[in-house]
Amino acid sequence: MTQTSSLRQSLRVAPLPERRSGTLGLIVPVYDEAEAVGPFLEAVRPFLDGVADCEILFVNDGSRDGTLDRLCDAALEDRRIAVLNLARNFGKEAAMSAGLDHCDADAVIIMDVDGQDPPELIPEFLHLWRSGYDVVVGERVVRRSDSWMKRMTARLFYNVFNRLSSIKIPPNVGDFRLIDRRVVLAIRRLEERNRFMKGLYTWVGFPTASLPYERPARQAGRTKFKWRQLTRFALDGIFGFSTVPLKLSTYLSGLLAAGALIYAAYLIVRTLVFGVDLPGYASLMVVVLCAAAAQFFVLGLIGEYVSRLTIETKRRPVYILEGEYRRTDDP
Ligand code: UDP
Ligand code: MG
Repeated sequence: MTQTSSLRQSLRVAPLPERRSGTLGLIVPVYDEAEAVGPFLEAVRPFLDGVADCEILFVNDGSRDGTLDRLCDAALEDRRIAVLNLARNFGKEAAMSAGLDHCDADAVIIMDVDGQDPPELIPEFLHLWRSGYDVVVGERVVRRSDSWMKRMTARLFYNVFNRLSSIKIPPNVGDFRLIDRRVVLAIRRLEERNRFMKGLYTWVGFPTASLPYERPARQAGRTKFKWRQLTRFALDGIFGFSTVPLKLSTYLSGLLAAGALIYAAYLIVRTLVFGVDLPGYASLMVVVLCAAAAQFFVLGLIGEYVSRLTIETKRRPVYILEGEYRRTDDP
């Protein structure tokens, strides 16, 4: 910590004093990852041995294979491991929210179980956190493990999102990050059902550092995200964080009205000069079809917001917990 920032910290009384040397929590969402759990634990353990007090909180997101058994076996062997079991598959965003709601560590790191988030970064995350950053994000400098198509669509998404939304999310940054307890508490206050977590992490703010890393390929199993889900996810992000598309209807209707007026003026003049001209079917159809298409487009946009509003007004919980598993006997 620099001298000025430690001086500032000595003055801080609210809302929460900082605890930069306390406990570490790893939040690991898992869905059908029976083969990945063992290698994951093997890979992270060496980087946790130096950490005095830590917890690995797996969130089992309704796995249908033997993942829960594997996790419980691990929890039986190692008292640092705890398992939150969701009642069904709620999706990674909900699983991360569940983890954040149940982890009281002073710093939390969110990691995938498939080996794509290198545990070698944990000490560097902690170092940056201790030097005063509340959020440390892992920034993928090379995405060789992703296909060309995935990289291009991801780039397009970030471009559109950052243009439309008032918050800017850095491209090439995933969920792999460290967040301070104060940030966790802030995120818990966000009650929306549409959990586009990358947006929520950014929305709460706090000083952020980024740590470049090369993203390796998946170690075991297969990706859980298909194109259809990724598209939904992208739309959730855009419609959840921007109302610009709604305003589009205003611009579009203005444009159409201007076009209609110009065309009407032209028709009046033409009729006055050349008299009544009966064949007008083509121009009429073009105008009608254009207007109808614009209306359907805007209706579709409104529909996206209305459907999300419907979900939000029900105020259902983001996830349902089946149970929590951890050793409770005294060491
Ligand atoms: N995951 C989850 N629920 C889901 C889908 C995925 O908890 O519905 C977990 C998954 O087990 C993994 C992480 O989220 O630990 C990232 O998933 P994946 O590797 O399939 O995504 P990708 O790396 O391909 O974006
Ligand atoms: Mg992965």
